[in-house]
This record gives sequence, C-alpha cells and structure tokens, in this order.
Amino acid sequence: MKANWAGNVEYSAARYSSPSSLAELQSVVASSDHVHAVGAGHSFSRIADTTGTLISLDRMPRVFSVGSTVRVDAGMRLAKLAALLDASDLALHSMPSLPHITVAGAVTTATHGSGDTCGSLASAVRSLELVTATGDVVTVSGADLAGTVVSLGGLGVIVSVSLEVLPAFQVSQQVWEGVPWETLVSDLDAVFASAYSVSAFVSWPDSVSVWAKSRVGAPPADLSWTGGRPAPGPRHPVPTQSAEHCTQQGGVPGPWHERLPHFRAEFTPSVGAELQTEYFVPRSRAAAALTALSALSP
Ligand SMILES: Cc1cc2nc3c(=O)[nH]c(=O)nc-3n(C[C@H](O)[C@H](O)[C@H](O)COP(=O)(O)OP(=O)(O)OC[C@H]3O[C@@H](n4cnc5c(N)ncnc54)[C@H](O)[C@@H]3O)c2cc1C
Repeated sequence: MKANWAGNVEYSAARYSSPSSLAELQSVVASSDHVHAVGAGHSFSRIADTTGTLISLDRMPRVFSVGSTVRVDAGMRLAKLAALLDASDLALHSMPSLPHITVAGAVTTATHGSGDTCGSLASAVRSLELVTATGDVVTVSGADLAGTVVSLGGLGVIVSVSLEVLPAFQVSQQVWEGVPWETLVSDLDAVFASAYSVSAFVSWPDSVSVWAKSRVGAPPADLSWTGGRPAPGPRHPVPTQSAEHCTQQGGVPGPWHERLPHFRAEFTPSVGAELQTEYFVPRSRAAAALTALSALSP
C-alpha cells in the first residue's frame, strides 16, 4: 500500500514490510530506526506515515478466540470480526460508519460510531499486545490501558487486541428526512436521544436527515415531533450516491453489524473521492459549534 484510501497521502516510507509471523515482526521492528504500522489506510491524514519502514499486518496469522472477552489479531477488518462475533451470538456495542478498517487502526484512533451511550471502539479494549521499539512483546491491561489504547500508532505495533463483547442483538434503521435545521440545533439532545445510535447529515442551507438505529425490543425512534418524516425509500448519506452501498433501512430489523455501520462491507464506503474532517466539542457547545459551521457553509 503506497497511498491512503482517499489518495491524498502518498506514504514516504523508504521500506515496506508485511511480516507473516510474530518473530519476523519483532525482527523488523528491532532492526529499523523508524517504523510505523499501517492498517487499512483509511485515515485522511499522514497519521500512519513514516520515512522509515511502514509495516502492514495483513499477512500475520489470523486470531479469534472467545472467552470473557474476544481476542483478535490487530490487522483483522471490522467486517470480518463482526461476522465471526455474530456467528458466536456476540456483538460489539458500536460500529463506525464503515466496516472496512482494521481493529488496531480503529481503536488506536478512537474511531467511533454514534449514540449517547456508545463509547468509542477504544472503550471496549480490555488488553493489548504490542511489539515495542526493542522488538519486545508487551501486554497492557487494567489501569495501564489509559493513554495506551488511543496512541495513534506511537507506542509500538499492536499485534492483538482483547475486546469486551455483548450478546448479539438486532437493530432497525430508519432515515428521517426534512428535520428542520433549527430543530436539530435547538433540540439536539432530544434528537440524539431518540435511538440507540443516531447520526445527522446536513446539506446546507437547511436540509437535515437523521439516521436513527434502534435496538429491537426498545421503542423505535419517532422523530415526527420535529416535523420530519420517514424517508420513502433507501438513502445514501451523500444525496447523489446510490443507496445500494448502504445497510438496509426502512425499519427492517437485522443483525447489529448489518445496521450500525452506514455502509455495507462489500461496497466502497461513502463516495470514494473525498476528504473528511472531524472536530470534537463538548455536547454543551454542540449547538454553538453547528451554528458556527453553518455560517461557513458557502
Ligand atoms: C469513508 C470513511 C468513513 C469513516 N467513518 C468513520 C466513522 O464513522 N467514525 C470514525 O470514528 N472514523 C471514521 N473514519 C476514519 C477511520 O475510522 C480511521 O481513519 C481509522 O483509523 C482507519 O483505520 P485503518 O485500519 O484504515 O487505519 P490507518 O488509517 O491505516 O491507520 C490509522 C492509525 O492507526 C495506526 N495503526 C494501524 N494499525 C496499527 C497497529 N497494528 N499497531 C499500531 N498502530 C496501528 C496507524 O499507525 C495510524 O496511526 C472513516 C474513514 C473513511 C475513509
């Protein structure tokens, strides 16, 4: 992999390495002045780049072992992990919009889904196994995890991750269109409390669609109080794109991993030629932040 998924970053690595065993990985790390791991290359920034050796874990042995947590190899794609968990009647509590990325790339960047009660994927980590600069393997768990999980690849190459899992659950997804911008801003907490996982997509000046994902068994989201209405057909977050790339909507119940991500694993996530940026603000400042962003919309 010589460039990231979006194509805006060409990696500056002098060498590329894809070790196929732990011993080989340890030797590559210990014998290199500078190394960095790359996952699926979906980050839009130079965060995975290095001028030294860029290491991919794609050829490392696959690991999937279930106990009180699930232990997986760091390079496993979330889509694969989700399918294996679901086959074991287990689930992750949350999924980002796309399942194409690696477990390590997700947890070390605090990749997140949406939902008032859903922490980032990093919050599910119970232990990590890392190859550090000397080539040693270090296992981190308990209190030492603070500051270690969301390390942006800076502490070493993660080789395996143990994650907390839940019993598998079903989710239904409904897209609500025509939610007024003013209501999103003034009643933000109520909009985001309307379902287990909620995302809002805005095409300025004032068209808002709210994607509400409800756990089956809980009351499904009802955003009719906003003046919005259920979309009459399947939608893509980017209005010009085909909804074929998206997980099933229309309130049809299905497995957690086929509803919580917006995009299906077998298709290009989102548009494919784009750059995304994220800003994190405290919830109490969200309305002010949205208002400031709206002023920049032209
Ligand atoms: C279309 C699209 C939609 C997205 N949607 C969301 C979303 O809904 N929510 C969200 O939070 N993010 C989202 N992202 C961002 C994405 O989740 C992050 O960029 C994530 O880091 C990508 O994982 P990756 O496997 O591609 O990692 P990379 O981009 O390859 O690497 C990211 C970081 O992880 C480190 N890393 C990777 N593997 C290892 C390892 N084995 N050991 C140590 N460090 C490692 C790298 O060094 C780098 O610092 C989206 C990105 C795209 C392209």
